[in-house]
Amino acid sequence: MSAVSTPGSGSIAEPIPIRIPVREILPWAIFIALLAVVLLYFVGAEEGATSLISGHYVHEYVHDARHLLGFPCH
Ligand SMILES: [Zn+2]
Repeated sequence: MSAVSTPGSGSIAEPIPIRIPVREILPWAIFIALLAVVLLYFVGAEEGATSLISGHYVHEYVHDARHLLGFPCH
């Protein structure tokens, strides 16, 4: 007589993995990748000649992230 329960032997139903087709994920993956590139631009290159927004507000706002990711700064 064994007191150890094995998966699938109990009355609790096992969760069934949900299959998500690549066709449904692809637009979201592209959107997230695009957002990541924009965020990476603002963290890493939004300064000086490559600046899209005048002033230092964006640079100062993401300054710590800039140093954390190893972008040259000052
Ligand atoms: Zn810096």
